[in-house]
Amino acid sequence: MSSEAPSSAWICRTCANQYPPTPEPPPECRICVDDRQYVPAGGQEWTSLEELAAEGHRTGWTELEPGLHQLTVTPSIGIGHRGLLVTTPEGGVLWDPPGYLDAEAESLVRETGGLLAIARSHPHLCGVLAEWSERFPGADGRGAPMWLPRRDAAWVLRPGEAVRWWEDRAEIAPGVTLIRCGGHFAGSAVLHLADAAEGRGALLVGDTMMVLQGNRRVSFMRSYPMLLPLPERYLDALLASLDGVRYDRLYGAWPGLVVEEGGPQVVARSAELYRAWLTGTARDPDQDDA
Ligand SMILES: [Zn+2]
Ligand SMILES: [Zn+2]
Repeated sequence: MSSEAPSSAWICRTCANQYPPTPEPPPECRICVDDRQYVPAGGQEWTSLEELAAEGHRTGWTELEPGLHQLTVTPSIGIGHRGLLVTTPEGGVLWDPPGYLDAEAESLVRETGGLLAIARSHPHLCGVLAEWSERFPGADGRGAPMWLPRRDAAWVLRPGEAVRWWEDRAEIAPGVTLIRCGGHFAGSAVLHLADAAEGRGALLVGDTMMVLQGNRRVSFMRSYPMLLPLPERYLDALLASLDGVRYDRLYGAWPGLVVEEGGPQVVARSAELYRAWLTGTARDPDQDDA
């Protein structure tokens, strides 16, 4: 842990979320002590951007499709999720930023038209969101707008005047729309890209729906690391929030996790299977008496 700096914006090593600058780290990580996360057996550990840079962490960009790049950190930090940058004629929209950034990360954003907006799927995947905002001030002198759902206001670690609260839907750039689905968190969201996937539409899902290995299924959980299922009423609300949304592709929160096509069918089939096991209408003949 760095101690020479008089004040540092502390980053939790477990979840990679960044707190406001303070001389001493917070007493605990609010994200990790929640029942959806965990504090490691070895105890809470803090770091900072400066310390992560000194340890050799680096960022890299990869183009996933025209107008969409993924941002990764190597070696990975926190839970190793990827950020996604949507480029639009009006500027970039950064989704689920990881817990580290450097000049390399900034340069692609500057080269592709700056930062119009920052948004996230849920409180676990905010990373250094506020740091991005500060580094890309707008004409009004405030940081780049941080679009956060009001329903998750209690989970905002670094609030500020750049926050733009939203309720159930918000179009934050032409054809780029936040949709609140709930479930994992009340403010769990997806970002709809109307023009992605060759015009068929895509959803950036974070873990609002988890794209699973094999890229043919998704899941819906109260907690992924703690393996708590999602009650059926929250699943119903999540599915209803996507009624009428036109999309074909799903981009998950980790590199390689993408449902290339048939997204709505994948979501419907996955929900049916999940519901069957959740409610017990599915059965394992090896364990049930005939
Ligand atoms: Zn944490
Ligand atoms: Zn999560």
